[in-house]
Amino acid sequence: MLYDEESERRHAYLERRRQRRRRQRTIHLVILVILLILFIFSAAAFAIALYDRMKETSKASSPSPEPSSQEAETLQTETETMIDETVAELESLLSEAEFLAAGYDYDRAIELLRSRPEFADEQAVLDACASYEEIKATLVPANINEVTHIFFHSIIMDNKKAFDGDTDEPGYNQVMTTKSEFLKILEEMYARGYVLVRLHDMAYETTDEQGNTVMKKGSILLPPGKKPFVMSQDDVCYYDYMKGDGFATRMIVGEDGKPTCEMELDDGTVSVGSYDLVPLLEDFIMEHPDFSYRGARAVIAFTGYQGILGYRTDPDYQDKNPNIEQDKEEVKKVVQALRDNGWELASHTYGHMRLSTRSLDDIKTDTGKWDAYITPLLGEVDILLYPFGADIGDWHDYTRENKKFAFLYDHGFRYFCNVDAAPYWVQARDSYLRQGRRNLDGVRMYYDLPETNPTKDHLSDLFDVTKIFDRERPTPVPPM
Ligand SMILES: [Zn+2]
Repeated sequence: MLYDEESERRHAYLERRRQRRRRQRTIHLVILVILLILFIFSAAAFAIALYDRMKETSKASSPSPEPSSQEAETLQTETETMIDETVAELESLLSEAEFLAAGYDYDRAIELLRSRPEFADEQAVLDACASYEEIKATLVPANINEVTHIFFHSIIMDNKKAFDGDTDEPGYNQVMTTKSEFLKILEEMYARGYVLVRLHDMAYETTDEQGNTVMKKGSILLPPGKKPFVMSQDDVCYYDYMKGDGFATRMIVGEDGKPTCEMELDDGTVSVGSYDLVPLLEDFIMEHPDFSYRGARAVIAFTGYQGILGYRTDPDYQDKNPNIEQDKEEVKKVVQALRDNGWELASHTYGHMRLSTRSLDDIKTDTGKWDAYITPLLGEVDILLYPFGADIGDWHDYTRENKKFAFLYDHGFRYFCNVDAAPYWVQARDSYLRQGRRNLDGVRMYYDLPETNPTKDHLSDLFDVTKIFDRERPTPVPPM
């Protein structure tokens, strides 16, 4: 019994071992099959990859450009474009700085160059900064009391039409300047070192230490030998009587955003171009940026009774001008273009009034019309150019005892200009700047010619009048 039990247990044990071995063999087999399948798949994948690689290699040996060289080429082009763009940026930065320096604004030129740290170590930038610093050290402050001021009316663009023997001819011959004279004056004054400045460069309103509002002399810094001057133009209205007489007909905003002019031609068509002082001076300064101090332009003065800049916007034209409302909008755009380009704007009174002899009440009425009809188009102005040069006082300082001065000052005027033949006449005071202006017109130039009057000389500091006077003028120019 014992033996049997023992034998049975052995038998069962051996049986379990056999079963376990069978199970293990089965497991081994399954693993082997899986490994085999994996191997086959891997081999197939490898073969496919190898085939693809071979196909690519065979393509690469064909004449078409290989993808890797195309990529390299694109990379090279991109790098070249980036280098070109950087060079162009540097060049434009340098030329922008050069333009500012040409206008004597060395501080802004240096500031601009230093505003771009990525170019800080460029030799050209370092050289430019050094040269501007060097010139800056030589600048001389201008004597504000010796700044001259020249003025013009509308420029005669077509002598044949202006000097055609009609009743307007003597007036044009007396008070106007021809295009050839104007351009020669610019050339000669430029050659002599004259530099255009603003009235607001000569003096400006500020607050002093006591908190009072005062006018203070400006600091105009120019290289030695350069001479500051102010220019102005009166009656920029292109009055009705000037139609067909060889003048611009109105001012517009040009395609470049700068103010320019229109002129009506004989066949009724309208031509756009540099047909008056404003665009002619713009052209000249574009060519000679060193003729303008920090972007200065001339002072442009208007009367109001027909509207300004050639647009008939006065209430008198309500029935005559069907485009009156549209014209008012156009005027505002031209005014903005003038301001944006550095032009100073001025009152020449609403009614071209002789302020020296008219009563304070008349002046108040005239100023009221200006406020009603011109200020909405022009904005506020602080410059008054006296019609006929007729000042409200003699050479003594203005005081508030002068009721006309007190009224005009309270109305916002700070700059007052009469007409005077002296090379310069300036009163820079706490409450105003007053300056004499020199008329460079037919009367002044004709009577300064040596052949007319050998002893008179009002112009030789500016130019040689014999080179400037337009020989197409009818002579003698009628005296005033
Ligand atoms: Zn005038």
